[in-house]
Amino acid sequence: MNLKLNPLFTKALPFDSNQNNTPRQVYNACFSSVSPKVPSNPSLIHVGIDVAKQIGLQEEELKSDDFLAVFSGTKMYPNTQPFAMCYAGHQFGNWAGQLGDGRAINVMEVTHEGKNFTLQLKGAGPTPYSRTADGLAVLRSSIREYLCAEAMQHLGVPTTRSLSLVVTGDEVLRDIMYNGNPAYEKGAIVCRVASSFIRFGNFEIFAARQDHTNLKLLADFTIQHHFPSIKETGKEKYIHFFEAVSKSTLEMILNWQRVGFVHGVMNTDNMSIHGITIDYGPYGWLEDYNPTWTPNTTDNQHKRYRFENQPQIGLWNLYQLANALYPLIEETQPLEAILDAYTKEYDSNYLQMMQSKLGFQTKNEDDRNIIQELIDLLQEIETDMTIFFRNLSLVLKNDTPETALTKIEFAFYNTNDCNENIALRWRNWFTKYIDRLQLEIVSDAERSNAMNQVNPKYVLRNYMAQLCIDAAEKGDYTILNELYELLQNPYQEQPEYEKWYTKRPDWAKDKIGCSMLSCSS
Ligand code: AMP
Ligand code: MG
Repeated sequence: MNLKLNPLFTKALPFDSNQNNTPRQVYNACFSSVSPKVPSNPSLIHVGIDVAKQIGLQEEELKSDDFLAVFSGTKMYPNTQPFAMCYAGHQFGNWAGQLGDGRAINVMEVTHEGKNFTLQLKGAGPTPYSRTADGLAVLRSSIREYLCAEAMQHLGVPTTRSLSLVVTGDEVLRDIMYNGNPAYEKGAIVCRVASSFIRFGNFEIFAARQDHTNLKLLADFTIQHHFPSIKETGKEKYIHFFEAVSKSTLEMILNWQRVGFVHGVMNTDNMSIHGITIDYGPYGWLEDYNPTWTPNTTDNQHKRYRFENQPQIGLWNLYQLANALYPLIEETQPLEAILDAYTKEYDSNYLQMMQSKLGFQTKNEDDRNIIQELIDLLQEIETDMTIFFRNLSLVLKNDTPETALTKIEFAFYNTNDCNENIALRWRNWFTKYIDRLQLEIVSDAERSNAMNQVNPKYVLRNYMAQLCIDAAEKGDYTILNELYELLQNPYQEQPEYEKWYTKRPDWAKDKIGCSMLSCSS
């Protein structure tokens, strides 16, 4: 195996001088050196060929013993220094202090075709940041992360990438619903790839400890290597950095809202400074359009991270990053201006995004009303978000409202719920919609085509992941392979996979792992 190493983070930033791999507070350091735990009987379940090529691996190399050894944590790649990062975070709105990579080990930093990547094993054993936990990950959550990251990539949503999925041969004890029923599950390791895994929390930890020396070192490093277009100096440099993070965070969340993704744990330690989706835990996809839904049972009471709240939480998290960077800037006004711009930009970008989902290319400020009416109507009876928007592209300019309604009916979970009153409201809405379509210059076919670029046909529905997991736990990876293929082209018609273009089945409605997920992983 031949990778081009380029250790930036570990070379430039201060390390933890304590070499003991024991849980503790780590001060004055960005990372601790740590070796992955050697698994007892690792085997490779899946590898992302495109991701491998991006980091400079050839297809033949993926079958080598070396590949499995390195990406299962059995063997260290020559001349590397695996490390766990020190960071803190706000969890569910509260300051949580030091967290850090408790079960993620960055095995190497590489470069290929002018791009830098960090390769990280998730579930490769304990680190000084593991606190009371084991540093391991189970197959179920590893499959969910592995598949979803790639699904997001192909949906056009910024994300970490998945290089490999390995089962370790070790058993891991988990109490899935935290109700005193622990059971052994198969252990697994995902190797994920990103430009870096620097989070808001990496800055927060130094600010909280008033360690301004390391705060500055980390900020300067991050800007130099990951935001090279920022040429300003002095405090302007940090202001531009914050602005760039704010913009990319906004863009990421806008995309989540477009495809119906609910992250589930938007703690500041799970926010990447690259504005990429990271740390797939109890995430989920909106099936019936319910803006108050969150898949995360830990958040059941307050639903802080519910679908409709994600843009607002993005802003809240950016406030925490602003506070963390403040010591380098010592002026609130420029930071506040950026935070204000987030709200305004989100509002206008959201309008544009929804216009694109509805097929409106011609500018029209009045669209806010028709969009709001739709959002209200989608919640009247259980209506599948993905199917609704996908089928909406079938509506023609000269359809009657009645015909239009028949085209989206497949999105209703129970057609009997669509009583006369609701049907009337839908017909009224379609009357306005078809009227509005008359403003569009392009043909029905062109509009439909454009809509199908933003309204996916296939997403990783919660029940699909669960079916895949149930089979994989028995050693059958057929569904995993199939979903991996399917989700490479989420916007395309794929007649051979039409069976996945369907609403959540009844059995999955209230099932653990489908509509309800805990943080146990
Ligand atoms: P998460 O909610 O998965 O983002 O995790 C929050 C914090 O808990 C991070 O610091 C993780 O590294 C840590 N953590 C989660 N699961 C484990 C585990 N099984 N072993 C050690 N640390 C963990
Ligand atoms: Mg995390």
